[in-house]
Amino acid sequence: MIYNVAQLLKEGVGASRRRTASGDLRDIDELNPGDTHLEGELLFVRTPRGILVTGKAHVSVNQMCRRCLELTRVEIEFEIEEEFIPSIDIETGASLPITDEDEPELIIDEHHMLDMTEVLRQYVIVASMSPSLCRPDCKGLCPICGQNLNLASCQCRRDEIDPRLSILAQLLSSPEDE
Ligand SMILES: [Zn+2]
Ligand SMILES: [Zn+2]
Repeated sequence: MIYNVAQLLKEGVGASRRRTASGDLRDIDELNPGDTHLEGELLFVRTPRGILVTGKAHVSVNQMCRRCLELTRVEIEFEIEEEFIPSIDIETGASLPITDEDEPELIIDEHHMLDMTEVLRQYVIVASMSPSLCRPDCKGLCPICGQNLNLASCQCRRDEIDPRLSILAQLLSSPEDE
């Protein structure tokens, strides 16, 4: 997801382009190794200093359901807003000052190529940190025996156990007791 922005940099502040984003992000996290495909719609706007990119993207990732801990496929949609800054003056070819506060993934390279890939990858990492449910009515795990209650019920009498004691009950019930 690399875009040549030379022409846009030459235009005045406020000039814009619509661009689609379509490509693969590498190694999001341990549940999403390899390539994860992303699609999005972006708007590039020339600012006094660089190019503001806004838009929306969506991606399907593997997550662990926060209630039953089963692997589940989740569609994530998120909004993007980042300003990229050029490292070379488009008119003179002179190097532009880059400070320590300028994040390396937000720098437009010396060939006027703006690379969205790492920025989008970081957005997806952040977005996938808050786990979802495998389905809205996920029944979760039995706190006593650990049975996944979406797959089968168990014989535990959960309603009679104080939830504060359920951890203790879990510790006390060893496989030999069953
Ligand atoms: Zn679940
Ligand atoms: Zn149970």
